[in-house]
This record gives sequence, structure tokens and C-alpha cells, in this order.
Amino acid sequence: MVPFPPGFGHDAAMSELHFSRHEYYMRLALREAERAATHGDVPVGCVIVLDGEVIAAAGNERELRNSPLAHAEMIAIEQAARHMGSWRLLNTVLYVTMEPCPMCAGGIVQARIPHLVWGAPDEKAGAAGTLYNVCQDERLNHCLEITSGVLADESVALLRDFFQARR
Ligand code: ZN
Repeated sequence: MVPFPPGFGHDAAMSELHFSRHEYYMRLALREAERAATHGDVPVGCVIVLDGEVIAAAGNERELRNSPLAHAEMIAIEQAARHMGSWRLLNTVLYVTMEPCPMCAGGIVQARIPHLVWGAPDEKAGAAGTLYNVCQDERLNHCLEITSGVLADESVALLRDFFQARR
């Protein structure tokens, strides 16, 4: 059970509470990552939150759909846009267990998402701080806030277990 901090979502001024909130939603994203592994997809999961409510949740479905575009973030962005009836995902927070790749970081910018929270860094494809920072490039027409490293150990453990099991 994920502990629900007192005053959850009502006192944005307390940074400690902010952190608990990020962990709470990242645990939901980790659950999506676990589901991805059950169909042979690399375990990456994503949730999108609007005013405290989860409006989209998806895992990586690249193998499941045989689609190079079916990363968790892309699927969740589609779901959230449908939910909001708009391509602009204003006032949302996107949580993803691994740092977005260039495609997904581009999608996050296109969707005008104001805040990205990611877990484990991706040294081979990370485009939100590691190799590139597509989300905070002032030459583009949208820059956003990034919180990185939330529950990174849990995310790395999932990925490690997945690749070890396949060997
Ligand atoms: Zn991606």
C-alpha cells in the first residue's frame, strides 16, 4: 500500500509533501512498467496527472503493438489529450520511470506539458538532461520544469531484472 501523506495535494508550499506526492505518482508509473514486462516489453511506465487526478496511464507497448512509436509516454499523451479534449495538456504533470528519449521529449514539448518527473537516467537515449535536453532548450517554443531521479533505484531494479531474465 502506498502511504497517503496527510494534507495530500492541499499544501503545495511544503516541499517535503511535494516529494511524497512525486513518489506516490511514480509508484503508479512503476506499476505500469511492471505490466509492460509481462508482455515482453522493456519495463517503462508513465502516468499523467491533472489537478491530482491520474488521467492517463500506460506502459511501453513497442513489442505488443510492433510499433517503434509505442513508448509509454506517447501512449499516455494520446490518452490524456483524449481525456482533456485538447492537444494542449496544460497544468499536467507527466511521470515516467525512465528519462524520455528524443521522440518522447519532443512529444512532451508538443503537448505543452509544464512539468516532467522522471526516474532513472538513460545514458544511451536520454533527451531530458543526459544526452540532450529537449525539454529545456530555449530555441524551442516551450520549456518546462524537470524533476529527475524520483524512485530511480526502483526503476533501475525493474530494468535490470528484465534484462537478466532474458539472458
Ligand atoms: Zn521514448
